Amino acid sequence: PQLVNQIAAGEVIERPASVVKELLENSIDAGASRVELTIAGGGVEMIRISDDGCGMTAEQLPLAVTSHATSKLPEDDSLFHVGTLGFRGEALASIASVSQMTIRSRAEGTSSGSQIDIRGGVIESPGPCGCPVGTTIEVRNLFFNTPVRRKFLKTPQTERGHIVEAFTRLALANPKVHFVLRNGDKEMFDLLPTPRWADRIEAFFGTEISESLILIESDDAQVKIFGFACDPSVNRGNNRMQYLFLNGRHIRDRALQHALGEAYRGLLMVGRHPVCFLRMTMPPEMIDVNVHPAKLEVRFTDSGRVYSRLLQTLRQRFLSTDM
Ligand code: ADP
Ligand code: MG
Repeated sequence: PQLVNQIAAGEVIERPASVVKELLENSIDAGASRVELTIAGGGVEMIRISDDGCGMTAEQLPLAVTSHATSKLPEDDSLFHVGTLGFRGEALASIASVSQMTIRSRAEGTSSGSQIDIRGGVIESPGPCGCPVGTTIEVRNLFFNTPVRRKFLKTPQTERGHIVEAFTRLALANPKVHFVLRNGDKEMFDLLPTPRWADRIEAFFGTEISESLILIESDDAQVKIFGFACDPSVNRGNNRMQYLFLNGRHIRDRALQHALGEAYRGLLMVGRHPVCFLRMTMPPEMIDVNVHPAKLEVRFTDSGRVYSRLLQTLRQRFLSTDM
């Protein structure tokens, strides 16, 4: 089973940032209101995440790191029907098979916590430990037993960059959650919970960006769009500042990116980039998910409609804005 998990890990866990993404998603799924992430050595040396979510009992701990053990079984196979981010029961087992992992957790409504150590997928029996309600997972020495994979990692700075990007996506998608990111003992982000999405955007991208954002809203009964775009007449931002969320998940979608480009066409000066932070929501039956373990590919049952809805919403807004 260790080898099987290591192979599975190859698909799900490409680099430290993939670990961070999976752990952050689990904390969100656990209903955490505060999530603290600490990394060292570009995440290869260490990734530690603490949350104040629902926690796990001593009995649940070994199961959580066993392949296909998920407490989040969907009613059907459509990912977007479930309110949670995880559903495969694959991530923790995969990470545990290629690292040294310690989990401390205390379930809501219980008086004590427990701890479990896993080394290269070998699970030691859990013992008691004192900890608050919630979960702390520490992942050390990523890929220590898969040297080839380890060799393909980039410099710690580059890996850290990927981690910050994964953190950014999750924190942008969940503004009501308090997120902290530390690199060693240096604090990189302390993002207070906020009901205003613009506050969270500002925390990442600064006031220059947040002050030139214009509200984008579409009241289409099916395809709802809410968010902000940078005023096209203001030269701010770069091509990385395009964030699209679909039903609470970050997605990248070529067609929708194309729609963004089209909406801005002729409005932006040469060399400028459309800046956009958009949350789209639509009924799950409008979304076809092709679930690849590493990345989420989305297809729309009526992609033409989604495309034109986005394009139209942006165009109308830009036309009505005094620029
Ligand atoms: P999935 O998220 O797809 O269910 P994972 O391998 O990511 O699979 O996690 C396995 C299980 O471990 C989850 O279903 C959940 O029950 C438990 N778990 C993992 N992380 C946490 C956490 N931070 N808080 C509470 N439970 C957790
Ligand atoms: Mg998960």
